[in-house]
Amino acid sequence: MKRIVIAIISGVIVSEIMWQLYKKHKHSRKKVINTSNCNGSVEELCNNTEAKIFDVMFFSQDSSLCRSHLKRMKPCKKLNCPIRHLKKIIHYLDSAIHTLDICLYFFTFVELAEAVIRAKNRNVVVRIILEDSMTCTDRSRLMNFYKEGIKPITKPLDVLVHHKFVIIDNNILITGSINWTKSAFFGNFENVLMTNESAIVKPFIHEFERMLTILTVTETNSENLD
Ligand SMILES: [Zn+2]
Repeated sequence: MKRIVIAIISGVIVSEIMWQLYKKHKHSRKKVINTSNCNGSVEELCNNTEAKIFDVMFFSQDSSLCRSHLKRMKPCKKLNCPIRHLKKIIHYLDSAIHTLDICLYFFTFVELAEAVIRAKNRNVVVRIILEDSMTCTDRSRLMNFYKEGIKPITKPLDVLVHHKFVIIDNNILITGSINWTKSAFFGNFENVLMTNESAIVKPFIHEFERMLTILTVTETNSENLD
């Protein structure tokens, strides 16, 4: 009889532990929001600083078919419609309040440049690092930045600045294979990852500062850099 009672009590305790573990797991999962392929309100996510953002986008040869509706900026029904991806990136850029740190190999996409200029006009601190050799290919687009008081940082180096990442308010990272050009968004196989996971965002913040130092340091001080 004693053994039966002990067995019942043990069973109850184990059930309670399992229930508590389940509740804990459920609670921790609740804050993680996968925004991939969803049409949910980006503004809502941006305003919810507790929400975990992780968003993976893919672009393919089919993306070129959506180029025609870029003017209307209306996504079609395709899950990976580049317009949908583009709108989401622009929404996040438009959510910037304090800083916008951009490090790209090539940046000529007007719609994205306009979002950067909008950020500058609402007093967001905008810093842009670009690959020096690629700025020669489209000076006219760069002039728009200069006109708005944004001076992209470039420097001829022995190696390419081949990075593609953007950090919004030291909180949201946009990175991946894609250059910010129309042809990359509408024709290439590309990927973009957006996240506010600090373990991923922080190294990119550090890398941006490191790149800034490399590109702005004077020749005499360059020997002291790693
Ligand atoms: Zn489409």
